Amino acid sequence: MSGTPEELAALNDRLMEKNHALAQALTRAGKELTKAKSQLAQLAQPPLTFATMVRVDRVHVDDDGIQHASAEVTAGTRRMVVPVAATVNAARLAAGNTVMLNESMVLVEQRDRDTAGTVRTVRETFDDGRLIVADAGGNPQLVRRASALAGERIERGGRVVVDPSGRMAIDVLPEADDADLVLEETPDVTFADIGGLESELERIRDAVQLPYRHRDLFARYGLTPPKGVLLYGPPGNGKTLIAKAVANALAEGRGGTFLSVKGPELLNKYVGESERLIRLIFRRARELAADGRPVIVFVDEMDSLLRTRGSGVSSDVETTIVPQFLAELDGVERLDNVTVIGASNRVDMIDPAVLRPGRLDVKIHVDRPGPAQAVAIVRHYLTDDLPTADGTDADTLARMLVDDAYARVETRRLCDVCDEHGAWSPLHLRDVISGAMLRNIVDRAKTHAVKASIAAGAPVAIDAATIGMAVEAECAENRDSILDADPVQWSLVNGIRAGRVTRIRAAATDGANYGTTDGTEGKERHA
Ligand code: ADP
Repeated sequence: MSGTPEELAALNDRLMEKNHALAQALTRAGKELTKAKSQLAQLAQPPLTFATMVRVDRVHVDDDGIQHASAEVTAGTRRMVVPVAATVNAARLAAGNTVMLNESMVLVEQRDRDTAGTVRTVRETFDDGRLIVADAGGNPQLVRRASALAGERIERGGRVVVDPSGRMAIDVLPEADDADLVLEETPDVTFADIGGLESELERIRDAVQLPYRHRDLFARYGLTPPKGVLLYGPPGNGKTLIAKAVANALAEGRGGTFLSVKGPELLNKYVGESERLIRLIFRRARELAADGRPVIVFVDEMDSLLRTRGSGVSSDVETTIVPQFLAELDGVERLDNVTVIGASNRVDMIDPAVLRPGRLDVKIHVDRPGPAQAVAIVRHYLTDDLPTADGTDADTLARMLVDDAYARVETRRLCDVCDEHGAWSPLHLRDVISGAMLRNIVDRAKTHAVKASIAAGAPVAIDAATIGMAVEAECAENRDSILDADPVQWSLVNGIRAGRVTRIRAAATDGANYGTTDGTEGKERHA
């Protein structure tokens, strides 16, 4: 090799640089190799299996201080005894905790209890700690409790989380907030507050009040009082009012109790827990009735809850609620003070078993008021003590109101409906009127008078004009809401008699567009 010392030095520098770079590359490669190796090891590591600890099967510590133990565990529905690794302290293994099994099924690690699982309702508790729990279908199962729940107070009707094997309760769920589910009140409505339903009230008195008051006579003549009554008919015509008045009447001034539940609310809020809730309602009714007070269990919109089985609308409803409800209802016999009153707009949807003799076998149709009944209802709200114009009294105004609201005239026409044969017919306010609507009209008139009084600085009389305005306002509001409704549902719920309504359209302005013409005007809704 030849060259000047400078050239040699430069060459040396370049070689050193190369050397350095090579060393770095080598280090990087080394690191990559380590990483790849560990990844490979991870890939090769067999999975661990989750299991639930049941109990220590056997434990023995030999002369060298080494532990030899086995434990009973469940993995899924599999129940087995597995060896416990010497590194796991068998004395610390707690029933209900999650444990890990390696590929040779050796218990190698203990973890906390699982926080998820199936929810079960507690039916019964035993002194030895075991519990009878039930699933949504009411099927009972005997389970043990996890060590962590040993001292825990578990109430009947409470909810627990059960491990995947279904053999052990591993957690207790806090008491669900049911406070707003069952409405409990002491109603002050009396039969005298209900207008125009004389024959309906007489029937319910005979069915509920009579047997309650004259138990001995009923027994003497071998008559079994009905367990419940079904009130059916379009909304807003006094079904709830009647049920409350019954609660009040049975108590004869000593404060009857009215427990009410709304079918759809119960279903929506407590999906899958309906069994527990039905139980809860009847348990509460029994508690309240135990001290001799009459209790009315009022189930509003009963059709949503007690749907015909096999109708396939909701499996939960059909398979669990109906049988549960029937079981509770059949148990009512022993509790004389509980009466069930159901209300429904769709009696055709209710499971027939609910309405069979011995159950809710008294069915009372609470229909829309006719004009005479309407006057009676209006008079409950349009009372003699109200300020009226000279020459008119409350009675006259009530008749005016009803004449106006029930008139089959263009101004009281709400819309046109089309039946399944394609025939259109007009629908007037009177076809959909209800007790609630009549009250609403009176309230509108009163509100108007109050506002006028404020403006005038002195009480203003309710007169024919005020009534006319109130009827018009009610009519306008209904016109709008009907057009927004689903025709089929709406007509079924409201019990419209014009056959099966398939379409609804805004009232034809010329008033002559009926028959089977298919003219569509304005807003129209199809089924
Ligand atoms: P439903 O239970 O049939 O849907 P409600 O009993 O809740 O109807 O009635 C709603 C409201 O309408 C009542 O609170 C009451 O103000 C009024 N109402 C309905 N029907 C009558 C009636 N026959 N007499 C007096 N008020 C009535």
